[in-house]
Amino acid sequence: MVGDWSVSDDGMVYSFTLRDGLMWHDGDPVTAADCVASIERWGKPDGMGQKLMDFTTELTAVDDKTFTLTLKEPYGLVLDSHGLVLAVDGVAFDIRAGETLGLVGESGSGKSTVGKTVMRLIDPTSGEIRVRGEDVTRAGSARMRTLRRQMQMVFQDPYASLNTRLSARSIVAELLENYSEVPRGEIDDRVRALFQRVGLGPDQMVKYPHELSGRQRQRLGAARALVLNPGLIVADEPVSALDVSVQAQVLNLLMDLQDELGLAYLFISHDLAVVEHISHRVAVMYLGKNVELTDRETLFSDPRHSYTRALLSTVPVPEPGARRDRIILKGDIPSPINPPSGCRFHTRCPFAEARCLSEEPVMCAIGSGHQVACHLVDEQVG
Ligand code: SF4
Repeated sequence: MVGDWSVSDDGMVYSFTLRDGLMWHDGDPVTAADCVASIERWGKPDGMGQKLMDFTTELTAVDDKTFTLTLKEPYGLVLDSHGLVLAVDGVAFDIRAGETLGLVGESGSGKSTVGKTVMRLIDPTSGEIRVRGEDVTRAGSARMRTLRRQMQMVFQDPYASLNTRLSARSIVAELLENYSEVPRGEIDDRVRALFQRVGLGPDQMVKYPHELSGRQRQRLGAARALVLNPGLIVADEPVSALDVSVQAQVLNLLMDLQDELGLAYLFISHDLAVVEHISHRVAVMYLGKNVELTDRETLFSDPRHSYTRALLSTVPVPEPGARRDRIILKGDIPSPINPPSGCRFHTRCPFAEARCLSEEPVMCAIGSGHQVACHLVDEQVG
């Protein structure tokens, strides 16, 4: 839809110009005001009080073909064929069968972009993604259709990701029908068994998403993700919209399913307590880059990157009376559109020295399975 776009130096204000000749189905021209109205609708609560997207402070139709938007935070958006995405660069990890890799970082770190790229909802401009040894990065649409069965996604907001016009049964069954996975006469039995597995009753098969609770919708999202027996599930903030008591139930369900089915999870979350609960290993991202990767125990007991330490200092300690010293990072997260030179974290790092401003640190192994991107990783005082 967009023919041209530009972004301000601080990465906060975007200007879009529509392509020539865009028409609605009734023949009316698509205008910048139409686009502004659509984006405004994303930020308004729906009937369940949930917002599809809410990332702008100001939206303006400059003329019929041009509109501008101002971001709430410096997300570092770039435009590709799928729309607006966050710039991510140099992220590398693997996930083994039956393993959960937690992916953490502040809002704007690029976590969700990584998840969408793994799912090939966004095409990477370079690098590769391997699933069961196969490079899926450049797989064509026919091959991706087959591969998608192996990779499914669970979203933060199941209400926004589920087709609200379909019953719960149809939401799950349509994948079986589309992939001709089982004979039609057996589909209901398969859906019923899957509902039971994720803790939904057969009476909920006829309900629509708006008739289910948040917990039930997240269970329905899990059933939909599982119906084709995938090997990998990308879970993007899957419990952050749920009450704490419900979060534990959904997390335990995901862990039980993993034990039973040998699933691999890429678990994206800003909530470190949740990540500590579910992950086997954890990757930390800052401004579109990996800065630390190690097993859960090591990350939470001996974090080595100063950004990881600052993140962990905000996590409550479960022991009565115990507390972590809070590390307050100075300044705001910079724009990934125009990231700082050298180490991207140098503008906020308490240990930064001259070379941090000019030399970009790479991920280096400092122990078994423990990688950190920091020039001074051996010198920092814990
Ligand atoms: S490379 Fe320098 S600025 Fe970056 S985390 Fe290490 S000490 Fe801080």
